[in-house]
Parts: sequence; C-alpha cells; structure tokens
Amino acid sequence: FAKKVIAIPKAEYGGRHSVTMLPGGGIGPELMNYVREVFRYAGVPVDFEECPIDPQSDGNEDLEYAITSIRRNGVGLKGNIETRSLSRGILSRNVALRNELDLFVNVIRCKSFPGVKSRYQDIDIMLIRQNTEGEYAMLEHESVPGVVESMKIVTAENSERVIRYAFEYAQKHGRKKVTTIHKANIMKLSDGLFLETSKRVAKHFPDIEHDSMIIDNCCMQLVSNPHQFDVMVMTNLYGTIVSNVLCGLIGGAGLISGRNYGDHYAVFEPGTRNTGTAIAGKNIANPVSMLNAAVDMLEHLGHQNHANIILQAIDKTINEDHIHTPDLGGQATSIDVVQSVVKHIQELTKDKNWS
Ligand code: ADP
Ligand code: MG
Repeated sequence: FAKKVIAIPKAEYGGRHSVTMLPGGGIGPELMNYVREVFRYAGVPVDFEECPIDPQSDGNEDLEYAITSIRRNGVGLKGNIETRSLSRGILSRNVALRNELDLFVNVIRCKSFPGVKSRYQDIDIMLIRQNTEGEYAMLEHESVPGVVESMKIVTAENSERVIRYAFEYAQKHGRKKVTTIHKANIMKLSDGLFLETSKRVAKHFPDIEHDSMIIDNCCMQLVSNPHQFDVMVMTNLYGTIVSNVLCGLIGGAGLISGRNYGDHYAVFEPGTRNTGTAIAGKNIANPVSMLNAAVDMLEHLGHQNHANIILQAIDKTINEDHIHTPDLGGQATSIDVVQSVVKHIQELTKDKNWS
C-alpha cells in the first residue's frame, strides 16, 4: 500500500515558521506565555499567530478562524478548549477541530523521567490512538424518552491509516512489538474490524511482532507490569483512558505531550488534554507538558537544534535540579521551573554558534 508522508510546511524568509497558537482555557494561556519566554531565550525562529477561543461565545466563528489559520500555517500549538456546557447540542470544539483537520492519529510517548518519583521507572511506551471516530463520533440521540443511542463509528479506512502509522512508527524507530487494544469479544463488529485490520496490516511488517489484548486486561497489565508494552494502538475512547493511566504511572498530567497528525496538518498539545481550570492563575501548573509539546512542534518543523537545547534544559531542570511543581510532589512554582529552563538554555548556548 502507498506510503503517505505528512506535509511539513516550508520555512519562510530567514528560515522562520509561522505557527497557529490556540491557548485554550484554564492553564492554557499561562503555559503559552512560558513557551513564548523559553522560545525567546532559545532564539527559536517561530512566529505565533494567536487564536483565542471564547468558551462563552455562541457562534463558531473563532473556531473557524483558528482552523483556517492552521490550514494556512500547517501547524498548531494548542491548549485544551473548554466545552461550554454539558447540555445537548453543544459539541466539543476540541473534537470538532480534530475532525475538521482530519487529524486521524494521536501519538503520545510515555517515557519515564529519571528524576521523578513514580510507581515504575524506565517505562517507554508509544501510544497510537485513532483520533477522529469511534465513540467520539458525537452521534447520540434519544430514540424514545429514556432511551439514548450513541453510535461508535469504526471504518476500515481510518483503522488502516492509524494501524499502519503504528507499524511504520515501530519500524522507523527500532521498536519491536505492536499491541492492538480492543474489546472485540463484546463489540464484535466495530472492534472486530479494528482487530482484523491490524492483523492484516501486521502481515506487511514481518519484522515487527504483533499481538492483541482486551482493554480491561490491558488496564490491569499496565498497572501491574507496564514494561511488557512497546507500541500500543487502539480506538479513540480506549486511547484517552489508557493515555491517562500511562501518564499517571510516570508522573501525572504535567509532563507528557501529545501529537496529532493528519495527512496535511499537525497539532501539538499536552498529552492528557486537561484544561486545569482549578489550578489556573495560581503559579503552580507544571509548564513541562506544554514545553514538551512545543519541542515536538520544533522537531516537526525541522528545528532540531532548538528542540535539543530546550529538551536538555527541561531534562536538567526536572531530572538533575529536581525543580518540581506540586503535581510532582515538589514546592516549586511554574515560574521557578521556567526560570531554571531559561538559565540552562543560556548556559547551553553560551559560546556556541549553534543555531
Ligand atoms: P479536565 O480538563 O479533563 O477536566 P482537569 O483540568 O481537571 O481535567 O485536570 C485533571 C488533573 O490534572 C487536575 O488535577 C489538574 O490539576 C491536573 N493537571 C492538568 N494539567 C496540569 C499541569 N500542567 N500541571 C499540574 N497539574 C495539571
Ligand atoms: Mg477541565
């Protein structure tokens, strides 16, 4: 089958890139300010086009503007957008954005931080999640009063794309095994299609071991023996649950980033997609998940040197200096973390003409 390559936008004058920034709600805006500060000190050649989204607005003009901006720039950096209410007729704008841009795969690397105390060390699991259909089809209706039907959509085409992505990723990055997570014993048609598709795709990758596991057993195995997993691939709802279990295993919502890809666009964000409304404005949110998302974005754009410098500065701050915010059991503020990252960037780039 044909290999698709995700389009990477060309840099403009002087190697600069323009990127859409969606601060989102809760801690999103403050985390974006930290990204801007770190980029300034690292001399990153990226200009942000900021697209705020008003969670209270009735229309969708701001969301449409943001989507147009990502279509133009090819790349976005995103906080989580609050859904206005849980009442009927209000769709999640995070889901709408992913669907509009056809960001069919969500990729989360759950890798332990050596300096963060957690239940397990040396975890390095790649989670590959279908990002646009499944239980997130947003097709629910009340057929008669008191009876609600909710549709889970699984298509052969989208299953194959995301499964192929998982195997190609494994091949490219020297991973050994892909595990399909499913509930095909109960959802025989929908999850059955996903499982059958992965068995079929696996035949094209004889060097990569393929196995499968039922989602409930997967949750138990993740908690008791996570080191058995390498690359995991699954449908949408299982993906959000498993990614939160994994992030919890290695240190919580404040560390890990997530990447969303389609054939044309890429959007980077914190892995667990929290708004963090309760901790907003208190100078305690962990800036690392959004900084890591910004690093992913730089790697995608080909600014590898800048990405490396920022990664090293984060590594020193978290794993060597142990400057930890309360989510990691520490007492540092968000600003302490950012100042330490900036200090390390200055030290790492001193006397170097690296950019
Ligand atoms: P949701 O957006 O799904 O409602 P929350 O915003 O309540 O979830 O976040 C879930 C938990 O993760 C909360 O305890 C929140 O404080 C925590 N959290 C999320 N992001 C961060 C962060 N960057 N730093 C520290 N804690 C975070
Ligand atoms: Mg929230």
